[in-house]
Amino acid sequence: MTRSALVLGAGMVGTCTALHLAFRGYEVTLVDRREPGRETSYGNAGIIQREAVEPYAFPRGIPALLSAAFKRGADVNYHLGALPRLAAPLLRYWANSGPARYPAIARDYARLTEHATSEHARLIDAASAQDLVQRAGYRAIFRQTASLDAALTVAQRWAQDYGVGFVPQDSGALAAAEPALRQRLAGAIHWTDPWSVSDPGELVERYAALLARSGGRVVRGDAATLRATATGWAVQTDAGTVDAGQTVIALGPWADTVLAPLGYRLPLFVKRGYHRHYTGTGPNLPLLDADRGLVIAPMKRGVRLTTGAELTDIDAPATPWQLERAETSARELLDLPQPVEPAPWRGARPCTPDMKPVIGAAPRHPGLWFNFGHSHQGFTLGPVSGRLLAELMDGERPVVDPQPYGPQRLM
Ligand SMILES: Cc1cc2nc3c(=O)[nH]c(=O)nc-3n(C[C@H](O)[C@H](O)[C@H](O)COP(=O)(O)OP(=O)(O)OC[C@H]3O[C@@H](n4cnc5c(N)ncnc54)[C@H](O)[C@@H]3O)c2cc1C
Repeated sequence: MTRSALVLGAGMVGTCTALHLAFRGYEVTLVDRREPGRETSYGNAGIIQREAVEPYAFPRGIPALLSAAFKRGADVNYHLGALPRLAAPLLRYWANSGPARYPAIARDYARLTEHATSEHARLIDAASAQDLVQRAGYRAIFRQTASLDAALTVAQRWAQDYGVGFVPQDSGALAAAEPALRQRLAGAIHWTDPWSVSDPGELVERYAALLARSGGRVVRGDAATLRATATGWAVQTDAGTVDAGQTVIALGPWADTVLAPLGYRLPLFVKRGYHRHYTGTGPNLPLLDADRGLVIAPMKRGVRLTTGAELTDIDAPATPWQLERAETSARELLDLPQPVEPAPWRGARPCTPDMKPVIGAAPRHPGLWFNFGHSHQGFTLGPVSGRLLAELMDGERPVVDPQPYGPQRLM
């Protein structure tokens, strides 16, 4: 009997899920209102973060909290008007970032990032996408010795506990490795295991093309039209109504648009982010300017600057002052004469209060599956999440224990 599946959302997560289902013989239709990889999975910093063994915690120290509250850095912004709605998930996020809960969450998280590069590698090879990928790590750079020393302590712990690789670089070593830098900094941590991608959206497109070559279909359609049928699920697309026995919700920051009508009230929220490309000479590897909260990544379209988190509603008007600050900070370091686009790009990281993605069966609807909430690392985790969910749907032995990522924990 043919097994069929609809995958709603053609970002990195949905596209990888569709691929893994196609590899298992499913008749798969990947549905998106746009071309694959045009939203969050397009606009990120393009780093496949094998080193990200611990998720991005809510700031807990007083200096970090004050800096966020008074919007002193480029890393955090918030819209006051959105805070009442965000208060409940943010309070849970804060609690989960404390010493009582965070270590166990980090262990669960590391079990996924452990497979980040190995799972991408299979797809990159099969999709002939090697030309987009640099397998040379990235550098976290530090302007202040105190922050470099603190980060080195964490790096040593991660190396010991999780086996991730790094090379400390002092001021001279960093200047030699990145000759485009205009000033001497305190130093860097060169994370050696991550990979960087010169066009994140194009990597998703190549994976979607591989899906088409593997027997899957990629169609335009509106996930909000999803409805249960006598035999499974149906959705309206440009190719007409598509029916399937199973449906995966992989809508990233828009998951709620389908979940809410089905009666699921998950405490999801978004951290928006901005990017813009610039002309000029970029670094050899992506640079995380850790003291200022921005990433400077050499990409096909130019030098891409990406910002930290903006806490607000997904559709609130753009307030790109973090990008303006990022631009000032980046220009202290590099020659970046002109922006490439007339206006910054804006996207939204899909977040959960315990920092873990939601991967598993919908609790109340047979044949409905969840794969969303990958927050700061969905570009990294798409392939392993897609594989894990396909294995669960197929009744196979899963690549990692799925229990920590199931939706029940948030309900
Ligand atoms: C500034 C920034 C920098 C980042 N840097 C990194 C990084 O370096 N490394 C990393 O791993 N992660 C990074 N991330 C996070 C990463 O980009 C996200 O976690 C990831 O892209 C989420 O993928 P997704 O497939 O879940 O969502 P998306 O890529 O947003 O895909 C969701 C899809 O759903 C579709 N959709 C929505 N509504 C409908 C509808 N009604 N009908 C049909 N389709 C619909 C959208 O069109 C979209 O294609 C960054 C994020 C930002 C914002």
